[in-house]
Amino acid sequence: MSHSLTVIMKLNLLKLVEHNKIYPKDSIVYFYIKKNVKGENMSENKLKFYDFVNVYEFTCELPGSKKTVQFKPVTTAQIKRLLTYENETNYVIQEQALDDLISSTVLSDDFDINEQYIYDRMFLLIEIRKKTKGEVLEFQITCPECNSQSLNRVNLDNLEIKQLEDNSNRIVELGDKIKVHLRHMKRKHQKEDIKPQLFSKRMTDTQQAYMFQVAFHACAIDKIETPNGIDENIPMKDRVFFIEQIPMGYMEVLKEEIDNMSFGWKLQNKVKCNHCSFNFVEEIPIQQNFFS
Ligand SMILES: [Zn+2]
Repeated sequence: MSHSLTVIMKLNLLKLVEHNKIYPKDSIVYFYIKKNVKGENMSENKLKFYDFVNVYEFTCELPGSKKTVQFKPVTTAQIKRLLTYENETNYVIQEQALDDLISSTVLSDDFDINEQYIYDRMFLLIEIRKKTKGEVLEFQITCPECNSQSLNRVNLDNLEIKQLEDNSNRIVELGDKIKVHLRHMKRKHQKEDIKPQLFSKRMTDTQQAYMFQVAFHACAIDKIETPNGIDENIPMKDRVFFIEQIPMGYMEVLKEEIDNMSFGWKLQNKVKCNHCSFNFVEEIPIQQNFFS
């Protein structure tokens, strides 16, 4: 399963209130946030310092679409807005909160979060973090060999970037009868396929992780080709059925190809344990102190 996506899923700052508690357009909270975010509560007479806030602008080139995006660092007002989702446990709604954060940070007029490749979105999120809080990320790691904990520091600027070379579908053959056409997922594909209802409150964390994995892989499927012909525009429930019914061996092949299609920052970090000198690879946890 894609680690970058799991990372997003766990982002600390995304644990915000329940969607319907915060987002009704007529709620006082919504009104309050809107005022704060848009700056409508600024003094009527323009003060001298106004020209000097919100002037920090940065650009980056996305490794998938190759588009240049202009953005500003996250402000305290935006963090305050995110805090309203503090207790939100639904992964899908957490992702929507992130969409809002990214969209409110990007200055480019033609930017549409739904049209972004999911790995471009992740790339951009890390760029925004770097310009907001700096390049250095500190986090706790646990050695898989001796279980001792230590503090790890990573400079996000030193990570490698994997570019997307070819954005066309990839075709995976499962045995000699089935060909699966995989697409480079965009945010809109996830929104169409992965609904909040998939993650019910009654599910355990393990069940949620399983569901996330199945939904993520199903979302990557564009077409399925068999001797009967090609199925296109396959409903999500049928793609989920396909994922759950194919043999485990085929699933591994599919999973590997979907992983290979990822790009952007390489979040794997080589670590040597201070206590037992064991070498291991740790996924950089974007969730710990990411913006806060
Ligand atoms: Zn160790």
